[in-house]
Amino acid sequence: MGSLLIKNGEIVTAIDQYLADIYVENGTIRAIGEDLGHSASRVIDASEHYVFPGAIDAHVHMDLPSMGTVSADDFETGTAAGIAGGTTSIIDFAIPNRNESLLKGLAAWKEKAKKAVSDYAFHMAVTWFGDQTAAEMAHCVEHEGIPSFKTYMAYKGAIGVDDLELLEVMKAAKKAGAMVSAHCENGDLVPLLQQKLFDAGLTAPKYHAQSRPAFVEGEATNRAIVMAGAVGVPIYIVHVTAKESLEAIIRARSNGQTVYGETCPQYLLLNDSVYDTEDFSGAAYVMSPPIRPAEGHQERLWHALKSGQIQTVATDHCPFNLHGQKDLGKDDFRLIPNGAAGIQHRLALLYTYGVLQNKISLKQFVEVNCTRPAQLFGMYPRKGSVRIGADADLVIWNPKTEGLISAATHYHRCDSNIFEGYKTVGAPTWVIANGKVQLDDGDLKVERGAGRYIPRQKGQSI
Ligand SMILES: [Zn+2]
Repeated sequence: MGSLLIKNGEIVTAIDQYLADIYVENGTIRAIGEDLGHSASRVIDASEHYVFPGAIDAHVHMDLPSMGTVSADDFETGTAAGIAGGTTSIIDFAIPNRNESLLKGLAAWKEKAKKAVSDYAFHMAVTWFGDQTAAEMAHCVEHEGIPSFKTYMAYKGAIGVDDLELLEVMKAAKKAGAMVSAHCENGDLVPLLQQKLFDAGLTAPKYHAQSRPAFVEGEATNRAIVMAGAVGVPIYIVHVTAKESLEAIIRARSNGQTVYGETCPQYLLLNDSVYDTEDFSGAAYVMSPPIRPAEGHQERLWHALKSGQIQTVATDHCPFNLHGQKDLGKDDFRLIPNGAAGIQHRLALLYTYGVLQNKISLKQFVEVNCTRPAQLFGMYPRKGSVRIGADADLVIWNPKTEGLISAATHYHRCDSNIFEGYKTVGAPTWVIANGKVQLDDGDLKVERGAGRYIPRQKGQSI
């Protein structure tokens, strides 16, 4: 695999910032220090650059069958877009059908993921609870390297679970020493509100947002947290968008409960005016939970990130094309496939609109994108750190590179971009994944199937 010497970069981790060289051999960081004299098959001069640990996107959906279609990026194109932006590992969700064995579902996702260009892992979604489920969950933890289980409180009748099933999942996860995560929206209220709007002839994309107001998320978040507290299992709330959810998380954390929260760039940066279009283009923003009103939520999300009440930023990358996919719901917002692309631009957006606007510090940027996901999900210190013995996943970042986000130039396999026209400052010049230079002075040089499955360790939630 060869060796690589990165000279003169400024290493930034969640706790340190210092100038040093990094020597990499066979995919592993072998030395860090001033003026390293190692001879290497490749030398990169990282002067005027930061060097971050490779970012981990702990919430993505590649090749996901959903609402009569399949998400537009597969594991190859999606992970390639990730590398282009500095994300060197993903955690996708293996989602079995209701009444299907977890292990059968997992096998299907393992097959799909073989063409990934970057390293990958899975959360196991538990979409129902049967006689074998607890044993299969224990098997996932002990033998598959999967110590986290995802539940959906929305989507009842499909992949959603009811409260009794959720409780069983929590009990089984606790017994297995695993973490539970939850998509929190009240699964009974959403269909009720959807039907009300539809019956009134309100079918446009913007009614998707109106059918899933913030209280629907806040109620479910609080319920999931209260249940997890009663069972005594750690819980991770995915894609937090609303102040009601933050209040539930902060209250529980203040009471000493082990609760974590994740948010996404779209909830930190966009507001619900994106749905106010005369044409169907607002469908690009149809995702669940939806983009919230400008007032009341966004500032609090930033404050929660800054204060550490929310620990991670992921993307919920799950693109669908406007033409040929989103338009399945042209006459009925309930049929619009939910999701958008995001994996490529998480770092550039958080750097530009977070670090440069003093909403989070540079070390916090590394923490929420790289280090905490690795720690919470059992990949640390192999991932999420710059240290001897860690995987050589490194982002060499030029803080001055200017960019313009557009569907015309992005690597997402999708005909729209929810950040179209957004200017960014800061981008990777080189991205090293598993010791290989996969973004080389801006050129993407990825290899289909080069990604490895990363089994994760349990009991690392901190
Ligand atoms: Zn998701």
